[in-house]
Amino acid sequence: MPGTRIQWQDEKFVVPDDPIIPFIEGDGIGPDIRRASKLVFDEAVSRTYGGSRQIVWREILAGEKAKDQTGEWLPQETLDALREFRIAIKGPLTTPVGGGIRSLNVSLRQLLDLYACVRPVRWLRGVPSPVTDPAALDVVIFRENIEDVYAGIEYEAGSAEADRLRDFLVDDLGASIREQSAIGVKPMSAFGSKRLVRKAIRYALARGRDSVTLVHKGNIMKFTEGAFRDWGYELAAEEFAADTISEAEHWKANPDGGPGDGRVIIKDRIADAMFQQVLLRPGEYAILATPNLNGDYLSDACAAQVGGLGLAPGANLGDGLALFEATHGTAPKYANQDKVNPSSVILSGVMMFEELGWEEAAGAIVAGLKGAIGARRVTYDLARQMPGATKVSTSAFADAVVDHIPTK
Ligand code: NAD
Repeated sequence: MPGTRIQWQDEKFVVPDDPIIPFIEGDGIGPDIRRASKLVFDEAVSRTYGGSRQIVWREILAGEKAKDQTGEWLPQETLDALREFRIAIKGPLTTPVGGGIRSLNVSLRQLLDLYACVRPVRWLRGVPSPVTDPAALDVVIFRENIEDVYAGIEYEAGSAEADRLRDFLVDDLGASIREQSAIGVKPMSAFGSKRLVRKAIRYALARGRDSVTLVHKGNIMKFTEGAFRDWGYELAAEEFAADTISEAEHWKANPDGGPGDGRVIIKDRIADAMFQQVLLRPGEYAILATPNLNGDYLSDACAAQVGGLGLAPGANLGDGLALFEATHGTAPKYANQDKVNPSSVILSGVMMFEELGWEEAAGAIVAGLKGAIGARRVTYDLARQMPGATKVSTSAFADAVVDHIPTK
């Protein structure tokens, strides 16, 4: 099957029955988890659609494999293919150390303007967790991916740039900064914040989730984090007036705490309080929209609550572009040992199928994963925490998932 390109029209993907989906195998454990996940994806599609739909995979190069074959870590051809085919999936990539090369993951996000990092966090029955009721947390985190202190604008203590910037801030703007300080810059724009919140609200509406919570540290950083909150409420009122209601308005209409009227409730929480809320009142949250740094911390904390990073999926979304990825790294000490857990990339595939609109295939994969974990046939990382579990290899785990994928 030669495959057909996915198109982007009226702010929606138009997906053929034979979409070409590029994949980046990834470094370290990448090949092991790619093999396992490809088997699961292809079986789920074939059993769900009986041959009427098929993914046409196309390998594109990045990381060590690209360096070996082309001399470049991130070839232009790869960026072109990601733009052309619009939806892709990747394994973990080594961050080259030294030589002034930045993280390939950060480069991909910046070069393709993948401005929303999306991480769903939910518990799968049987997965060991440190909390008493892991099922209560079922959130999707939308983290802004480009701005904030992650923009990479920082100057070393004692450098000419830091001294010059300090002089300007102290002499011209009256700031108080100790001499010889390192200085980082935290740019946050209405444009960048609003487009992130727009994606989060659209997702809540499309998936029937009841709230979007803006997570910020606006009590301290008024003009950046505080503005993120204000811009979020503003965007909801400007573009989604009929479909959203602010928490304040909701409480006014429901002083006794009754259920909402079907509109998505827009709330906000201070970031530090949010870390308590996900532990103490997890059921009150559905979608969390956050600036870059808050979202980075919160994503990992939430993932730990439902069983850790080995199972956390992720996506980097732009407008008309989506790159799905395992959230863990390359775990080089386990490379080519057929040992690690492929669930993170498999669940990223579930997100990809949801984005394609192939909900039945997504559901079939989740059923397969639940089945394998329920049968206690799991990789070493889970087996060591699950009494009575059978420890299996990456490929045997994939087989166990496939065994539990329902046949239509
Ligand atoms: P890592 O996630 O690769 O590994 C840390 C430890 O987590 C491993 O030693 C292993 O014990 C465990 N682990 C990770 N994935 C697992 C899996 N699927 N199943 C079971 N156990 C698993 O983090 P690191 O060691 O800090 O980073 C290694 C390399 O990966 C670095 O070059 C780093 O830059 C890169 N990295 C890439 C990404 C990405 O591509 N998105 C993300 C993080 C790190």
